[in-house]
Amino acid sequence: MDARGLHELRDGVIGLRSVLVWSFLIANDREVVAIDTGFGPQGRWVKQWFKRTGRSPRDLKAILLTHGHIDHIGCAAELQRWSKAPIFLHPADHDLAKGTYSGPWPSKFLANVERSSRLLWWTRRFQVTHEVADGDRLPFCGGIDVIHLPGHTPGQVGYRWNSEKILFPADAILSIAGRAAFPKSKFNIDDTLARTSVLRLAPMEIDWVFPCHQTTPRHNLMTDIRRYAQTRAQAEAMRELAESEQQVVPDNGS
Ligand SMILES: [Zn+2]
Repeated sequence: MDARGLHELRDGVIGLRSVLVWSFLIANDREVVAIDTGFGPQGRWVKQWFKRTGRSPRDLKAILLTHGHIDHIGCAAELQRWSKAPIFLHPADHDLAKGTYSGPWPSKFLANVERSSRLLWWTRRFQVTHEVADGDRLPFCGGIDVIHLPGHTPGQVGYRWNSEKILFPADAILSIAGRAAFPKSKFNIDDTLARTSVLRLAPMEIDWVFPCHQTTPRHNLMTDIRRYAQTRAQAEAMRELAESEQQVVPDNGS
């Protein structure tokens, strides 16, 4: 077991951390679900964890992909072949996952990263067996809700493990120095939409957040997300007020 790569984050939440990205396993006594697969060694670490904990590959009941970027799906083929688990993904990210997406890209940088990563870490084909949509409740580990969070990619979703009130927001929110942050605009297909999507999370019952790009959070990122939503709502209210004042205050020049 690579001790650097594997982290018991919580009861039932195992984080697999490579240089670039986290993927996760959530587990109860009977079943395990993968949230993303990571890439590079992360697939091997998953298999090692199963062996170490005496579980069978068949205990992996589902592979839930958050979006189609290579660092999140790189080991999907390997893990599907090994476990025969179904793979879930939002249909708007199928092209991205298959490598047939032709743009637009938010930046040349991201396009190059995606293309060169696929050459370096050739991903064998995997089959998306199930499409997910906003509001779906998946019947694994006591119930996992699907929350569509477009902007970073068109089909990005977050998954909320309901019994634990834990959110896996993919790249909708990052943790930088322990605080919630948005990805830089060069990583978002629609930066404005990415910022608006996150507002949906604020009223939800979520006690903890595990982003895919993070320093291990020691702080509840929902506090930051709710503060951001409040600030946006206040700014919007001020803007509306300013507009209504313009309507009622007579224009002296006319
Ligand atoms: Zn991404």
